[in-house]
Amino acid sequence: MDPTVGDLEVGDVLIEDGEIMAVGRDLAAEAAELDCSGKIVLPGFVNSHHHMFQTALRSYWADALDLDYFMQSRFGPDALFHQYTPDDVYWGELGGALENLAAGTTTVVDTSQCSYTPEHTDAALDGIRQSGLRCVFSLSPCFGDHEPDPSYAHPHDIHRLLSARPADDLVHPALGYHVDDELFRLARDLELPVFAHVNDAGSGHHLETMDAEGLLGPWITYIHCLDLDDTTWKVIERTGGKVSISVMAEQTLAMGRPALQPALDRGISVSLGSDAVSIAPVDFFSQMRATYLLQRSSVPVLAHRDDPDTPAPLHIRDVLRMATLGGAQAAQIDHLVGSLTPGKRADIVLLNTRTLNAGPVHHAAGTVVQMMDTSNVDTVLVDGRIVKRDGRLVGVDTGNVLDHLTRSAAGVISRAGVPSIVLGSCRTR
Ligand SMILES: [Zn+2]
Repeated sequence: MDPTVGDLEVGDVLIEDGEIMAVGRDLAAEAAELDCSGKIVLPGFVNSHHHMFQTALRSYWADALDLDYFMQSRFGPDALFHQYTPDDVYWGELGGALENLAAGTTTVVDTSQCSYTPEHTDAALDGIRQSGLRCVFSLSPCFGDHEPDPSYAHPHDIHRLLSARPADDLVHPALGYHVDDELFRLARDLELPVFAHVNDAGSGHHLETMDAEGLLGPWITYIHCLDLDDTTWKVIERTGGKVSISVMAEQTLAMGRPALQPALDRGISVSLGSDAVSIAPVDFFSQMRATYLLQRSSVPVLAHRDDPDTPAPLHIRDVLRMATLGGAQAAQIDHLVGSLTPGKRADIVLLNTRTLNAGPVHHAAGTVVQMMDTSNVDTVLVDGRIVKRDGRLVGVDTGNVLDHLTRSAAGVISRAGVPSIVLGSCRTR
């Protein structure tokens, strides 16, 4: 993913103190060796939009539409999210972080949306730090009365997180959630990235008014960006904004016209996010394939080859870039991760090609994007530390995590008074 380094058919990556020192052939060094023969060595995937606290609610809204999800999750005191205790948040974040690592994703932008109290926020951070994942933690405060959300009444908790941040922390504080003037102003003043849900054209128009106030800039990543008007896209492009799309979650909820092509047309950096596992899967092999097919299915090249408005078909490698370097740009930490570049941190995945679904390899990017799945994720390093090896997370009792998640789900669901097993559809309309 680094054009200067290029692709090596056979090569070495030299790591020291968690930093990539060199990438090349036959590097000589006094170093412990990790044998990567038969493996594709890639920068770890970067998931630019996620809500890991929801892990215990996996597939709860599998067949929902957008309003079902929003109504059942957060409208009124009985809504599911409002039942979360700090303990539920901890296990959700830990389970979600481990799931991402196991799937080869080394950085997640986690838009918490469950910071009901500072204790909830601390529990989220504890779970993430326990996992070893690199995370951009987008604290989601609510200013004023944003129905249907509860009052996440601790917008200034971000000062506490910034002052209490440990040295060498893999968690990067940020702000996020709504398109909100006060939130954007706070982020600009603190020089923090913002991750904002832009779910419809109306939110896009709000962005245009904020642009006039000087609140927009390259530090903002816009999530979803469905059905935006051309005037909004122009503002995002001119101010250097980044875009995060969640093809599987957006199309599952039938949220609207995807942002992929409008962003590509303007040369805006696109990244992939899973959104919540209550709606769609986390693994990036699924995300990459969905993105590739979405764009290709909208490009009838043969039928319209003479039409200048027919977009060019996306390439496999473009999708791989969205999943790695594009993600790092959208996570606002591409100076640290996203490519195997000397000077960046060693967030690296080894994908096994000695499997019936991956070998023999003729097109490495094609093998990763079209053929592989999480069973090919052999080894994962974050910041030079091995967190997965030989297909297993290191030092993790998966059964224990699942037991806690099962108990957490039972508690949240019973307090909300809703069915624990969804038979058929949970649609409310
Ligand atoms: Zn979201």
